[in-house]
Amino acid sequence: MNPNSLNSLAGSFESTATMPVLFLGHGSPMNAIEENEFVSGWREAGKTIPRPSAILCISAHWETRGTFVTAMEKPRTIHDFGGFPQKLFDVQYPAPGSPELASNVKKISTKAEVGLDQKWGLDHGCWSVVKHLYPAADVPVIQMSLDYYQTPQAHYDLARELASLRKKGVLIIGSGNIVHNLGRTAWDKLNEPGFAFDWATEANEKMKKFILNGDHKQLIDYKSHGKAFDLAIPTPEHYLPLLYVLALKEERETVSIFNDKAVAGSLTMTSVKIGMNN
Ligand code: ZN
Repeated sequence: MNPNSLNSLAGSFESTATMPVLFLGHGSPMNAIEENEFVSGWREAGKTIPRPSAILCISAHWETRGTFVTAMEKPRTIHDFGGFPQKLFDVQYPAPGSPELASNVKKISTKAEVGLDQKWGLDHGCWSVVKHLYPAADVPVIQMSLDYYQTPQAHYDLARELASLRKKGVLIIGSGNIVHNLGRTAWDKLNEPGFAFDWATEANEKMKKFILNGDHKQLIDYKSHGKAFDLAIPTPEHYLPLLYVLALKEERETVSIFNDKAVAGSLTMTSVKIGMNN
């Protein structure tokens, strides 16, 4: 037997204390280059976390048929948006990838056949937030895609299989927005952070209660909560990364919420940290 295969699951990833898990409400791509309370909130959360061996990011902005992880050595910075200033397009986040972590994810996932991707890179759901946590871009980052053919329960079950990575120093980050309806954006309220439509407040408050009570079943069944939830989650991609994060919560772990504020009526930046030092 090849002696290397004995350690293939762990690879060069040493055992560590259980790393926290983050769900970050990412909001506008402009947060990548602005200084504001949300960026500060991400940064503060990052400061409470030991330096990761690598980051696994589940971003709202990578939906695929089937599940994939980025497996290239050097992921490109993807500017997957339009209508923003050139300085945002000029941003590069040259963090290395981790083909080793990508193949580990493939190995430990039994609920889905995880493909190794060589084409994607880091989309703005990932780099616009990770950039503030690790500005030197010296922590390897991989992304895992959202299979748009899977049910919320299937996403949750797949995420649970990633739990062992937390004990290998891997920081798992879900990046989306729990309330996200761009069709209802109050563009005239963009400069009034905190402005929220009643349905957005209602959905955000109920979600927070479910999160803090550990009532994940209600969050998986988000389609059964009526109008406010329907408006908050018109499409699932910004919401599903939350389920990946919650699925990784161990029984006695603490949960904290930060950046709990609405933007432009129909989007909330509400973010969640699970695990140590809350
Ligand atoms: Zn987004």
